[in-house]
Amino acid sequence: MTSSFVATCVECDEERTARDPNEIVRFYRRHNSVTGHDVTWTETPDDFDGASKDVPSAVASLVSDPDEGVSLGALSAAMSEFGWTVGETLDAVYDHRMRGALWEPQDDYVSAV
Ligand SMILES: [Zn+2]
Repeated sequence: MTSSFVATCVECDEERTARDPNEIVRFYRRHNSVTGHDVTWTETPDDFDGASKDVPSAVASLVSDPDEGVSLGALSAAMSEFGWTVGETLDAVYDHRMRGALWEPQDDYVSAV
């Protein structure tokens, strides 16, 4: 059982290990803004099971306190069960926020409406 999150660039094999999954999201943003590369999860803690391919449902099942939300990193780690990259999860979150299905109670955390 690991408590670390590990993610790797799909193109240049640059790797990051973090205890806080949002650290992986920040790595993705920095790396993507410089290189345009996407980042995929290679290791997540065993209890990070994906909930649903439907992002608002996944968010709803991962959130325990709606005013706190779930971190984008934790959500993305859960969605990696379906093979989603960090970039794919963030794009899906953006789409659902624009449609009003998700909101951001604090920076880099989302909650279902
Ligand atoms: Zn890269």
